[in-house]
Amino acid sequence: MKKSIFLKTDEEVELIRQNCLLVSRTLELVAKLLKPGVTGSHIDSKAEEFIRTNNAIPGFKGYGGFPSTLCISVNDSVVHGIPSDIEFRDGDIVSVDCGVINHGFYGDAAYTFAIGEISENIMQLLVATRQSLYKGIESAIIGNRIGDIGYAVQKHTEKLYGYGVVRELVGHGLGRELHEAPEVPNYGRRGKGVLLKDGLVIAIEPMVNLGKKEVKQSKDGWTILTKDGTPSAHYEHTVVVRKEKADILSDHSFLEEAIKNNPELVEISLKK
Ligand code: MG
Ligand code: MG
Repeated sequence: MKKSIFLKTDEEVELIRQNCLLVSRTLELVAKLLKPGVTGSHIDSKAEEFIRTNNAIPGFKGYGGFPSTLCISVNDSVVHGIPSDIEFRDGDIVSVDCGVINHGFYGDAAYTFAIGEISENIMQLLVATRQSLYKGIESAIIGNRIGDIGYAVQKHTEKLYGYGVVRELVGHGLGRELHEAPEVPNYGRRGKGVLLKDGLVIAIEPMVNLGKKEVKQSKDGWTILTKDGTPSAHYEHTVVVRKEKADILSDHSFLEEAIKNNPELVEISLKK
């Protein structure tokens, strides 16, 4: 059976925005803590404490049995990495995905950070993937279709740079459930798929591999890895579809400011 699409009222959108802002503040905290020698489990426990202190509940912990507050996916891990006791190292790229629940709704956003010296080709992957998120968001307007979003992401990553756009994992509708209809693939055809209507809340989240698009699942049952071992980037915003311009409910500006003030992290400029 096809899952129903729930368009959100303005009041519901504001609740989701509050949650997305807490997610964004959590990612800011991550950007302050991230450096070589620190572990994912340490950052995860700090993130959980921060979310609970703000009277919300971690959205991923226990979701389908996932064990942690954050998904932390390093280098060739694409998404769904479990925070571990392995220390981060100079040259790592670290995707951090966070969700919270409050007032009966979710919030969701993600960012891939770069620690220390990053090679030029990996930096280009991060920049292009981050740019592609905004290309996708530009297409998330009333009257367009889901395929327009995927087309925009794919064009900017796969067609322009030859990167591999992951097919098995996609963005999603978001509301009372973390994953609602419709699915939001990062590939697609213009003018195809579900029509975008006012009040549709979706998480747009390009997952892009430096090498080929194929992925595999790790033995831990969660982590998704690139099949060819190349690094992968992941950026995510939750947005609400509006006329002419989507309203971005999450906010990367806090974490960007924290990156500027953290000498161990490298800025991922949108200008490249
Ligand atoms: Mg997410
Ligand atoms: Mg998501």
